[in-house]
Amino acid sequence: MTSIKRIAIFGSTGSIGTQALEVIKANPDKFAAEILTAHTNDELLVQQALEFNPNIVVIGDEKKYQKVKDALKATGSKVFAGEQALDEVAAMDNYDLMLAAIVGYAGLKPTLQALENGKPVALANKETLVVAGDIVMQKAMEKRVPVIPVDSEHSAIFQCLVGEGRNKIEKIILTASGGPFLGRKPNYLVNVKRDHALQHPNWSMGAKITIDSATLMNKGLEMIEAKWLFNLQPDQIQVVIHPQSIIHSMVQFEDGSIKAQMGLPDMKLPIQYAMAFPQRIPNNFPRYDFKKPGTLTFEEPDTRTFRNLVLATDALFKGGNMPCVLNAANEIAVYAFLRNRIGFLDITEMVERTMDKIPFIQNPTLEEYFETDGEARNFAASLVQM
Ligand code: NAD
Ligand code: MG
Repeated sequence: MTSIKRIAIFGSTGSIGTQALEVIKANPDKFAAEILTAHTNDELLVQQALEFNPNIVVIGDEKKYQKVKDALKATGSKVFAGEQALDEVAAMDNYDLMLAAIVGYAGLKPTLQALENGKPVALANKETLVVAGDIVMQKAMEKRVPVIPVDSEHSAIFQCLVGEGRNKIEKIILTASGGPFLGRKPNYLVNVKRDHALQHPNWSMGAKITIDSATLMNKGLEMIEAKWLFNLQPDQIQVVIHPQSIIHSMVQFEDGSIKAQMGLPDMKLPIQYAMAFPQRIPNNFPRYDFKKPGTLTFEEPDTRTFRNLVLATDALFKGGNMPCVLNAANEIAVYAFLRNRIGFLDITEMVERTMDKIPFIQNPTLEEYFETDGEARNFAASLVQM
């Protein structure tokens, strides 16, 4: 029996979104792109819609609605525009799986809406779990739908846990490449510019996550993401630097046995795994070759230099709305850095000052998460102006 899985790609024009479309293209008997959404890139969205013939297309930027609608006039695709449309489309019935591939806080509401709607979610958008992980996972449980990780580390852990049933996890070991500035010290980092920080050694990704990888905030966000996905205590989550990015992460069980998931760094693999789960499907991606000379190395992260990891660990342990504050401040700081408004080390400074400023709430409601996000953004933005 093969029925075609109808995929709703939220964020289809991004790095994850375009790679997901490659997977769909290679497996037309298994997947169809049913919904495509983009924020501002109308040209790519139209091109994708003409190629994949989705039922629904959403352009975030309302000024571009008419242009997209005209371009797709001859097709059967329905076009919607605006932020609200994302939630409305997520609540529709015409898809089987949401691929949550919007970047940042903007991904939270549509993802929650998909879960509310009883739709399984393949989750790339880690910020959703950083901001409101308790509410998101609670909703998934209540509606009995899976949240399948796409982030490569979490996909690795998820794959290691298949078949382990109720076996207890002692800890998980998240691997980090270390980014382009591995081994560098603050006296170097203080002068780092945007274009340099955008050069990641192993992965080609969107701008925000590439900067997060350079500051190690990405790994901090991933610690919090892992806590919610796998129901862990903060002290069960360890980070190790592994510059080759071949081991994508590991699980250590109660008997001390460690399972790792390995492969060449290629996001298409975790994307495909999440879309096809629980099946594996064949592909012709390049394979890791043990016969070629190569060394896998591991080292402790330099948390004195990359203090974002310390801030994220604090937020992880503190819980409540603190991860939401961390995320909001970081989003503002990263975009300010990308616009050359602040320096590389100012990113950490802004996050730290915002975490000190915003009132702590132990058990926030969804409304309180929204408010926290807004307050933290405003405060962080006020620091940029100085
Ligand atoms: P990207 O910047 O390349 O793409 C982002 C997508 O989201 C685009 O389609 C854009 O149109 C859309 N978008 C942006 N802002 C929006 C808004 N305000 N409202 C609605 N849509 C909006 O990002 P990416 O690298 O593909 O990352 C997407 C998510 O996946 C992020 O949360 C990232 O952390 C996560 N992730 C990415 C990778 C990767 O290899 N790129 C790996 C692991 C996790
Ligand atoms: Mg990752």
